[in-house]
Amino acid sequence: MMKIFSNLFSSDKTKEKDKIKTKTKVKNKNKNRKRYAILDLEEAHAKELEKYKIKLIDNIEEDDWVKCPGCNEMSHRIDITRNIKKCPSCDYYFNMSAKERLELLIDEGTFIEEDKTYTSANPLNFPDYIEKNQKAIKKAGMREGVISGLGKIFGLEVSIACMDFNFMGGSMGSVVGEKISATFERAIEHGVPAVIVAISGGARMQEGLFSLMQMAKTSAAAKKMKNAGLPFISVPVNPTTGGVTASFAMLGDIIISEPNARIGFAGPRVIEQTIRQKLPENFQKSEFLKEFGMVDIISKREDLKKTIYRVLNKIV
Ligand SMILES: [Zn+2]
Repeated sequence: MMKIFSNLFSSDKTKEKDKIKTKTKVKNKNKNRKRYAILDLEEAHAKELEKYKIKLIDNIEEDDWVKCPGCNEMSHRIDITRNIKKCPSCDYYFNMSAKERLELLIDEGTFIEEDKTYTSANPLNFPDYIEKNQKAIKKAGMREGVISGLGKIFGLEVSIACMDFNFMGGSMGSVVGEKISATFERAIEHGVPAVIVAISGGARMQEGLFSLMQMAKTSAAAKKMKNAGLPFISVPVNPTTGGVTASFAMLGDIIISEPNARIGFAGPRVIEQTIRQKLPENFQKSEFLKEFGMVDIISKREDLKKTIYRVLNKIV
């Protein structure tokens, strides 16, 4: 059995050769970039963050109040947004859309979106899937549950993808799987690191087995990154569950998450019912996972971009 598994990834000679080929093909685009000194970085980041907050507030209606699921306090959406989508009273992290996330992480004006035209088919003729998909397109303002492309983090070029929970719970169907795999392939083509922000309820039920196949596909693409000697930073945020956790989201060379983020496979209630044991209170939370080595770094949202940059700056 072990032999079969070890043959799945690059152990025979032809694959070894491929590996060497990819390695020589990759040109490192980031070699001659400008590097930030620590103080310059702090200053540049603080300026960016201020600009970002103002930009987000621009399209909020005056009478927009939100109840915080963390502390039940009512807060105005402007105050939450000014706080980078965190509750002003208890620091509860509200979800960010893929676009907001990209704006938070990528230098202004550097993002080039790729794979824009992909949309889902209905391979299993699942009832109401097309209608649900259309609704999600309208609600989330995007064609599928992930945005992918190339951009810069403090001048460092990366291949990036950000998932969006507003699009069918951030579920991974064929298109999401394809775009995640393309993110890795683009990283290899350009010789740059890959950064993927995952937020997902898991595999997309409506595409059945085709969704599950994306787990193998994205994992194989992540392995190609490794063969090419390029870093992959995985950023699973609250919540990342099911088939996304069980595939690429846990395969990052460095896994960076936000405070109090739930990352797991099955929900805690299901696990408790199955093993008939009480689970620890912070079970599946990023802090708990860090204790056991599943998450490497927990970064506050306002520091996330800096954290990713610092990690990449050390290894690229
Ligand atoms: Zn709160």
